[in-house]
Amino acid sequence: MAIDPLDNPLQKASAQDGTPGMPPDLVRFDHVVKRFGDHVVLDRLDFGVQRGKHVTLIGPSGSGKTTILRLLMTLERVSDGVIWVDGEPLSHMRGPDGELRPASEKYLRGARRKIGMVFQQFNLFPNMKVLQNIMEAPVNVLGIGREEAEARARELLDLVGLSDKVDAHPSQLSGGQQQRVAIARALAMRPEILLLDEVTSALDPELVAGVLDLLRDIARTTDITMLCVTHEMGFARDISDQVLMFDAGRVIESGPPEKIFSDPERDRTREFLSAVL
Ligand code: ADP
Ligand code: MG
Repeated sequence: MAIDPLDNPLQKASAQDGTPGMPPDLVRFDHVVKRFGDHVVLDRLDFGVQRGKHVTLIGPSGSGKTTILRLLMTLERVSDGVIWVDGEPLSHMRGPDGELRPASEKYLRGARRKIGMVFQQFNLFPNMKVLQNIMEAPVNVLGIGREEAEARARELLDLVGLSDKVDAHPSQLSGGQQQRVAIARALAMRPEILLLDEVTSALDPELVAGVLDLLRDIARTTDITMLCVTHEMGFARDISDQVLMFDAGRVIESGPPEKIFSDPERDRTREFLSAVL
């Protein structure tokens, strides 16, 4: 894919340089391109998530949804374009003259603190007990004292209904319980944005509802911003302020869930929904 040099957001962003024009969204993808070799996965992707909103990304398998979340989690680097979080560049940092340059590792470590992610495959630390799994990052990344981190971890375990599992190892838990721990672990960092990547896809069917109920509770009772990838359309309908239909590297349609699920504009959206609903 050729990228139009006149349409280069790096130049636009550096020209704007902290002036009005800066995106007001908590998260903004500005012409983000992600390539793996020659394969263009995200093709000048533009979208935003406003603070406190719950946004769901839907779209076919292999279309790049996980890549979007991994870019936000700084587990991948953009090929082009800029990701903004809270008005600051995430993918980039400012040079001495305010121009944007690729972010250093150190900058990324700071920038990613606002963001928590829960993965399809839980990804708990297998050698640590449940309590340590939750305390690890607050202590070692945020520098919170052990006592405070432990008190918070216990509170979160209570929230996710696993107070009796503090001393268990992940292998002693069901998938649903492991995913609850992973949710508690993400919340322990007090992120401003919670990224959820098909968090119930790897669960046995009877465990799905409990995890979705927990997430509904979190969506209802906290002001955390959520960006969620899911194939659970009922859940998406319940929690979403906005649904983005993603295909071929771009958002092709977006709107409130009632609109997208009941009366989509695009044939591609209709086709996709009829395959998954
Ligand atoms: P989705 O989550 O929508 O199913 P992904 O973001 O996982 O899609 O993947 C989008 C595309 O990018 C797929 O074709 C996948 O094979 C490719 N891809 C993802 N990660 C990598 C990687 N690290 N290296 C090469 N290709 C990748
Ligand atoms: Mg995925």
